Amino acid sequence: MPECTGCCRCSGVCIAVRLGGADLGPVHLRQRIFACAGCWRCLRACPEGVDVYSESMRTRRERELPESYRRALENIRATGIALPVRELNALREMHGLPPVRLPAKAVLRALTSE
Ligand code: SF4
Ligand code: SF4
Repeated sequence: MPECTGCCRCSGVCIAVRLGGADLGPVHLRQRIFACAGCWRCLRACPEGVDVYSESMRTRRERELPESYRRALENIRATGIALPVRELNALREMHGLPPVRLPAKAVLRALTSE
């Protein structure tokens, strides 16, 4: 079993870490598991062959979904768009932009069918 030496190369190439600011090591990658883009750059970067990605995905399945992600999923189910459409359209109107058009009902059904 490959062992982590804490060299931080995985953090250095991780998109999720970059989005969240500077960080160190795989522990911090684990804290950003819901932001993971699945790019596998961490796998290529690790000189020890540690599978940071699979470990992150395992942890993700064990954890509860963060509130912001849960709300985004509810919005997608209701409107097909992750952002809250009513608030978004109010902002767009303030800036003189047309409202966001919702997807056709058939598209919404296809997006949300299990
Ligand atoms: S697979 Fe996830 S954890 Fe690994 S580098 Fe990409 S975004 Fe970061
Ligand atoms: S998982 Fe690999 S690249 Fe990341 S800190 Fe550990 S040894 Fe370094």
